[in-house]
Amino acid sequence: MKVLVIGTGAREHALCRSLSLDPDVTALHCAPGNAGTAEVAESHSVDALDGAAVAALATRLEADLVVVGPEAPLVAGVADAVREAGIPVFGPSAEAARLEGSKAFAKEVMAGAGVPTARSYVCTTAEEIDEALDAFGAPYVVKDDGLAAGKGVVVTADLAQAREHALACGRVVIEEFLDGPEVSLFAITDGVTVVPLQPAQDFKRALDGDEGPNTGGMGAYSPLPWADPKLVDEVLESVLQPTVDEMRRRGTPFSGLLYAGLAITSRGVRVIEFNARFGDPETQVVLARLKTPLAGVLLAAATGGLGDLEPLRWSGDAAVTVVVASHNYPGTPRTGDPITGLDEVATVDAPHAYVLHAGTKRAGDHVVSAGGRVLSVTATGKDLTQARDRAYTAVARIGLDGSQHRSDIAAKAAAEA
Ligand code: AMP
Repeated sequence: MKVLVIGTGAREHALCRSLSLDPDVTALHCAPGNAGTAEVAESHSVDALDGAAVAALATRLEADLVVVGPEAPLVAGVADAVREAGIPVFGPSAEAARLEGSKAFAKEVMAGAGVPTARSYVCTTAEEIDEALDAFGAPYVVKDDGLAAGKGVVVTADLAQAREHALACGRVVIEEFLDGPEVSLFAITDGVTVVPLQPAQDFKRALDGDEGPNTGGMGAYSPLPWADPKLVDEVLESVLQPTVDEMRRRGTPFSGLLYAGLAITSRGVRVIEFNARFGDPETQVVLARLKTPLAGVLLAAATGGLGDLEPLRWSGDAAVTVVVASHNYPGTPRTGDPITGLDEVATVDAPHAYVLHAGTKRAGDHVVSAGGRVLSVTATGKDLTQARDRAYTAVARIGLDGSQHRSDIAAKAAAEA
């Protein structure tokens, strides 16, 4: 099978890594890719938001499967363009990707499907905003209706700040605050059958102790020793399957990866958000534990027939990923700094710990930073404590001037396990 992965992040490096280990994959391509994907896949430059260009590349490469990593190309219709070119694609149509692209649309689908989520109002005027903020009270949850790379959401006890963010958004969703731990649960679907993956937890805030601004994600771990073993079945029944059924019923079937961001509240599971693609950094830990070869599963989702596959097999190991970010992330990051220690991790810590590149590129003999989240150090172990130790040992070998990472990824879960 010839596979083309679209994207540039650590998620795409994780996908490429898993696909490169799959004996069915005979050729692996990544576009645009980064310095890490280039080690396991052939890189091609392409404008990932240009459906015609991606379809042309996939046709030229005679790809049997295109895997679209990020949300922006999906919302821009890249999967539609590839599908129209007659090539199977893992990723939803632009219409179905609105489940992620518009928070208001996601709320509408959830209402139709009877999926439990936070009560909310969609507001466009200052009066509506004030009414909604007043109705729910503090802490305030204010979400930009459109795509914002995980940074369009403000959760604050400060009314003035909530108001200011809401007014800056234009169209905004204001909703009830959900307390309780968060879980990310991914499911692969062909539009009919839904196959959940193992749950993970990510760390969205920039600083230890969940302080600081929201980011794209600073680390993740899986499994969740504290979670109810019935959680996955329960979410499949109450959230994932009804949502996929509702999308089909509306004439916009959803295939690809349905990501449910969940809050485990005292009143039960509630959906915080849906995404239409693999989450980053949760993908790094979920794929680290998946034993079933990946390509056949993604192809079955792209072409139908997921229901005929054998159940997925999982490693009993734990996995932890720690994101190393540039100076000033999630603000405008500093880039172009050399990254050291990559070879040392590859020789000393492999195979239990490895680096998945995100914002990196080659500059002569060096790999240099090229984005906010620079890389994800991922490690496995017999339990979270061992996986964590291995991840942080490897992180300590990485040199990047001014870089930052959280030191408490999976710490609480490991201590309580
Ligand atoms: P989202 O982009 O919708 O995932 O929101 C980003 C983050 O904001 C989530 O991971 C939560 O930590 C937080 N958040 C979003 N919605 C709520 C809510 N209704 N109650 C509490 N926290 C929320």
